[in-house]
Amino acid sequence: MNNLAIKKIALLTSGGDAPGMNAAIRAIVRTGIYRKVEVVGIKHGFAGLLNKEFIEMHSHSVSKIIAQGGTMLKSARCADFEQKEVRRRAYENLREIGVDALIVNGGDGSFRGANCLYKEFGLPVIGIPCTIDNDIFGTDYTIGFDTAINTAVRAVDKIRDTAESHNMLFFVEVMGRHSGFIALHTAIATGAEAALLPETETDIDKICSYMERERRKNKTSGIVIVAEGDEEGGALEIARKVKKKLPGYETRVTILGHLQRGGAPSCNDRVLASILGHTAVNALLEGRQGVMVGMIHDKIVYTPLEEAFTKHKQIDPEWLELSKIISL
Ligand code: ADP
Repeated sequence: MNNLAIKKIALLTSGGDAPGMNAAIRAIVRTGIYRKVEVVGIKHGFAGLLNKEFIEMHSHSVSKIIAQGGTMLKSARCADFEQKEVRRRAYENLREIGVDALIVNGGDGSFRGANCLYKEFGLPVIGIPCTIDNDIFGTDYTIGFDTAINTAVRAVDKIRDTAESHNMLFFVEVMGRHSGFIALHTAIATGAEAALLPETETDIDKICSYMERERRKNKTSGIVIVAEGDEEGGALEIARKVKKKLPGYETRVTILGHLQRGGAPSCNDRVLASILGHTAVNALLEGRQGVMVGMIHDKIVYTPLEEAFTKHKQIDPEWLELSKIISL
């Protein structure tokens, strides 16, 4: 059954881009058309909403995008959106073209903006979690995370060859300003010697004594994965501190940076994005609003947007423990 009040849905992508956003856009557009609602794309996130960058979306508008990274609707950051009078303009722009509901693809910042539109003006809004960081409460995985960790793993495997050939200790910095999901998964998958995360205390002395012990066993190379938000600093800073205590080690730093955000989405990200995009449209037509759609244990779960951006998704301590045990 369609919610008859919803005849036109708008969608946008906002905040940091994530591989799989295009697959979500495609699923939203095609499901909307199937459910006989009009779909409007908004370019450049909330900034485009203020500038009325609207485009009609048809089935062919989203042809051949499922395999592409980035977002065909482009993304942007828009600091002005934190002001209520600016958001009112955004809401009025949507009403002016007859939009009844909005789907926001983005991270926690984008959900804050989306939740304001929902709370302040009663606009039906659904959020789809898109960020490579996987740090959104209410879903096991966010769109983009799987691609990003696969990119990081491929890079670290290559670095390992050089580390071993030249007896070097590499510090590889991965993304994650506030969360260590990318670092932890990358470390487990590459057999790294250590993973330094914002969620756990980093002990430089411990890393040094571990490397010294390893050296006595003739192991003279290693890989340490550093989340960019580790409290001891990024990879450059940590390498400098370690080098001071272990002058005998050849240390090197690689910062993977933005290459983790791009590239063709993995199969998992394409499937997750397709399911969540499809579900978001159905959810709106069933009368749901002010929620994020996610997947937990392979089941669709709706989480109030406010919880999605205020609650902190924890790293499972057992995963931390196992990463330590199997890297010894
Ligand atoms: P992400 O969605 O990836 O976390 P940002 O944190 O940059 O990315 O947020 C994306 C956009 O969401 C911001 O540029 C801004 O337009 C909007 N936004 C972020 N925080 C708020 C807020 N507290 N109130 C209203 N809008 C916000």
